[in-house]
Amino acid sequence: MTADSVTSSAAAPGAEYADTASAAYQAALRVIESVEPRIAAATRKELADQRGSLKLIASENYASPAVLLTMGTWLSDKYAEGTIGHRFYAGCQNVDVVESVAAEHARELFGAPYAYAQPHSGIDANLVAFWAVLATRVEAPELAELGAKHVNDLSEADWETLRNKLGNQRLLGMSLDAGGHLTHGFRPNISGKMFHQRSYGTDPETGLLDYDKLAAAAREFKPLILVGGYSAYPRRVNFAKLREIADEVGATLMVDMAHFAGLVAGKVFTGDENPVPHAHVTTTTTHKSLRGPRGGLVLAQPEYSDAVDKGCPMVLGGPLSHVMAAKAVALAEARQPSFQAYAQRVADNAKALAEGFLNRGARLVTGGTDNHIVLLDVTSFGLTGRQAESALLDAGVVTNRNSIPADPNGAWYTSGIRFGTPALTTRGFGSAEFDRVAELVVDVLNNTQPASTGPTGFSKAKYTLADGTAERVQAASAEILAANPLYPGLTL
Ligand code: PLP
Repeated sequence: MTADSVTSSAAAPGAEYADTASAAYQAALRVIESVEPRIAAATRKELADQRGSLKLIASENYASPAVLLTMGTWLSDKYAEGTIGHRFYAGCQNVDVVESVAAEHARELFGAPYAYAQPHSGIDANLVAFWAVLATRVEAPELAELGAKHVNDLSEADWETLRNKLGNQRLLGMSLDAGGHLTHGFRPNISGKMFHQRSYGTDPETGLLDYDKLAAAAREFKPLILVGGYSAYPRRVNFAKLREIADEVGATLMVDMAHFAGLVAGKVFTGDENPVPHAHVTTTTTHKSLRGPRGGLVLAQPEYSDAVDKGCPMVLGGPLSHVMAAKAVALAEARQPSFQAYAQRVADNAKALAEGFLNRGARLVTGGTDNHIVLLDVTSFGLTGRQAESALLDAGVVTNRNSIPADPNGAWYTSGIRFGTPALTTRGFGSAEFDRVAELVVDVLNNTQPASTGPTGFSKAKYTLADGTAERVQAASAEILAANPLYPGLTL
C-alpha cells in the first residue's frame, strides 16, 4: 500500500466496534445453523466471496455492521401500514419512532422539506413519486372540478374518465443506452406501461448530455414529468438547468438520484449539481453510494408531500420497519464528517480509475468521469460487454456489462463495462489502488479473445482467456484486498 492511500484513508465505520459485532454475528450464525445450515453456510460464504473479490459494481457497497445488525430484529415482525401517528394497525408506537428518526435524518442530511422512508426499493420510491405527481396534478384537480373529496365518491362514469386521464400522461426520461434506468419509462417496466414515454439521449460524439436537445424534446413532447438521474452516465448533471426546462414546459421535475445520493449527502455535488433543491420530487435508493440497507427514500417539496405520504396505500403495503430502522442508522452515519471524506474519495478514486484506463490506451464513454462511474468501451479490445464481464469475473473482478450510446451489440451483449468506486473506497482503496485495478482490468481484457465460430465469425458470448491470466490477476488483487480488509476485525 502506498503512503498516499494510508494517509488519505477514510476508514469505513465499524472497526471501532468490530469485537462486539463479531460476537453478535458468531451467535447469530450458530442460531441460523441450528435451523437451516445451508443458509448459515451461504451467509458465511458470501462474506468470504465479497472479501476475496474486487467489487466494482457501481450500484453496490458495503453497509456498516451497525446498519446490517439493525435489520436483524423483531421490528421486522410489526405491521405498520399508514403514516407516522396514523396507522391502520394498533401498537405502532415504536415504528413511529423509527420512521420519524429515519425521515428526520433524511430531511437534515439532504436539506429537504419532506422525506418519506417507507419505499422498499428504488423501484418503489419511483412508483410512489410517479403516483404522487399524478395524484397532485391529475387526480386532485379532477376531483375539485367534480366537487368530490375522495375517489370513492365518484360515479362509475366519472371514475372511468379519471382513470383514463391518469393513464394518458407523458413522461420524458434519459434513454437506456445513454445511461437512464428502466423505471424512467421503459416498456418492460410498469413506468413504460403507465405513461406515454419519450427519451432524451446524449451527444453521439461526446457522450455528454445535450441540454439544448433535451429542452427541444421537452418543448415538443410537453411531458407531465421530466425525469432526471441515471444508472450509467459518468458525468455530473446540472439540475438547475433541468428545472428551468421543466418550468418552461409545465413539467414536474423528478430526479432519481439512486446512484449518486452518496455524493449529494457527502457534499461532493452541491449547487446546481445537487438535485434536491431543484427537483419537485427526488427519489433514491439507500444501498448504493449512500451505503445503507437495501431500500428507497422519497424527498419532496411541500406541494407534493401530502401525496407522497400516501405511498401506502397508493403503491405500498406495510413498511419494512427493520429496514427503516437501518436507513435511520445509515443516514446518521452519512451525517458524520467522515462520510464527506468518503464521498470525496469515491469521486477522486473514479478519476484515478479513469486516468488509469486512459493511460493504458482504453476508450471511455465521455472520455472520463466526474462522478463515481467509469464506463469502459470494450470494442477496442475486440470484445462484447458480455465477454469482458465474464473474463473479468474469471479473474475475480466483479463488474457488470452495460450498453454504451448507440451500442452496436444491443442491450444483451452490450459493448461496455460499468465500473463504480463506492464499494472498494469503503474498503479503503485510494488512487494508487485504483490505478492498479485499471492495470489488472486491462491485463485481463488484453488477454481475452472472442471465440471463433467459423472462418470469419466470432461469438458474442464465448471467449478464451490466455493461460495464467486469471491466476496472475487474482494474486495481484489478493495483495491489495488483504491490505484493505472488508469489515476489519470482524471474525466469524
Ligand atoms: N433508479 C436507479 C437510477 C437505479 O440505478 C436503480 C437500480 O439500479 C433503481 C432505480 C432501482 O432500485 P432497486 O433495485 O432498489 O429497485
